[in-house]
Amino acid sequence: MLKLSKRLQKIADYVTIGARVADIGSDHAMLPVYLLQSGRCPSAIAGELNRGPFEAAKKQSADAGLSSRLTVRQGDGLNVLESGEADTVTIAGMGGSLMSDILEAGRLAGKLEGVTELVLQPNVGEEVVRQWLLKHHWFLTAESILEEDGKIYEVMHAVRAEDADSRSSELYNGHFLALSFDKKVLYKVLMQMGPYLLRDPQPALFKKWHHELNKLERICEQLAGSDLAESAVKREQFLTEMHVIKEVLQCLRTDKP
Ligand code: SAM
Repeated sequence: MLKLSKRLQKIADYVTIGARVADIGSDHAMLPVYLLQSGRCPSAIAGELNRGPFEAAKKQSADAGLSSRLTVRQGDGLNVLESGEADTVTIAGMGGSLMSDILEAGRLAGKLEGVTELVLQPNVGEEVVRQWLLKHHWFLTAESILEEDGKIYEVMHAVRAEDADSRSSELYNGHFLALSFDKKVLYKVLMQMGPYLLRDPQPALFKKWHHELNKLERICEQLAGSDLAESAVKREQFLTEMHVIKEVLQCLRTDKP
């Protein structure tokens, strides 16, 4: 059986046993091959936009002797799917904006009909993905953060739920954070940093946001050297953002036993 990276294994673990899965942007199709080999999924579709990875996915599927259960298709995002073909869609290893664009185009084309579960791993721009889920009534049920080979990854699991909106409003309520920021700021913090990740803060979360703070600090130093009025405005915005992040991290540390 294929041995997955820690990141892909976390994604695989979130896939419901027995689900028919479509892995979009599959590259070498490692994830669907593992899901079939491990018996977690009965069938899978691997979608790839680009020829090189598409060929690699076909080869991986054939080499594993899985061509009858793993269909590899070339196409843009969810276009490779017929509605009703998959229960679970996984998308991993791309930016959050591209991921949300793929989900939105698929939603508009009816490709998400019948899909009950999404497992998403944006490399950056996690906030954009959380916004998309919330806007389209998907309930975020779990999140993980992990470090592998010096990189930090977030993985999200979401389901369709009748009561997604009311559950989400509780999830994105920042009352559990002992902070005096107004509601809007707290909501933004939860969207950016992850509502579950903040409720159960792991070392990787601190590491990620310290790294982000360092990046913002460097940008602020550069902006301080500019005479442009817009630079001063931008710098103020970043300084405020940094202040909020620092307060959140401090509050999470204080809350920890
Ligand atoms: N999902 C795998 C993983 O997480 O290891 C591969 C990630 S790889 C960095 C991103 C893949 O997405 C590339 O193979 C790329 O060709 C593919 N891709 C990018 N845009 C796409 C789109 N619009 N539709 C389908 N695949 C896409």
